[in-house]
Amino acid sequence: MTESTSNQDRNLWEAARQKMVENHLRFRGIRDPRVLEAMSRVPREEFVSPEQKQYAYSDCALPIDCGQTISQPYTVAYMCEAAQLTGDETVLEVGTGSGYGAAVLSLLTREVHTIERIPELVTIARERLTRLGFSNVHVYTADGTLGVPEVAPFDAIIVTAGAETLPEPYTEQLKNGGRIIIPIGSETMGQTMYRYTMIKGKLSQENLGAFAFVPLIGEFGWSR
Ligand code: SAM
Repeated sequence: MTESTSNQDRNLWEAARQKMVENHLRFRGIRDPRVLEAMSRVPREEFVSPEQKQYAYSDCALPIDCGQTISQPYTVAYMCEAAQLTGDETVLEVGTGSGYGAAVLSLLTREVHTIERIPELVTIARERLTRLGFSNVHVYTADGTLGVPEVAPFDAIIVTAGAETLPEPYTEQLKNGGRIIIPIGSETMGQTMYRYTMIKGKLSQENLGAFAFVPLIGEFGWSR
């Protein structure tokens, strides 16, 4: 590929990304300027397989390896906005998948810890995040329903797979004032997204609407 072709490609991806931000995020109500900015900077085409690249800026979840998915851009933006990040937080993301959500979070906050139960996905996501320069992201392979006690407490915990109930370790690993964004509901028929906020040792719960995620599988999640 010549230099001018690769510049041309870059410009086309950039234009598609800006269009996605305007048509699917701003138009549908995402308002936080930092979230819109982060979404306009992360190259989603780098987080999908060559066959899926043409759909990178469609507002839909796409298949990745191991039967999992990269979340829909609107959902990623919605969860980031709901977490109310201002830039100085330590965040835990449960469900690394492709690494895309962690990349967006890395532009919104100081430190991101992301955990994935499938080792093959971790290898791919870690290589990608390093190659693309997202250096404040730490990737772990383990059951994310247990959280990451060795780096807790967190200002925010964002769970990108559907839980049966709120895993107890998240409450224990959340700072005062911290937020948990988590879909809870059916294993296969969709979930309700909740924001839990820790205030003086008590969790308050807000309903953020209906979503559909792959199941959160683990000790405090669905069994396999
Ligand atoms: N955030 C991801 C992205 O941007 O590509 C999308 C994640 S995908 C919707 C959900 C991921 O959660 C899957 O990769 C799945 O393997 C993972 N997962 C499910 N249960 C898990 C658990 N207990 N711990 C860690 N990851 C888990």
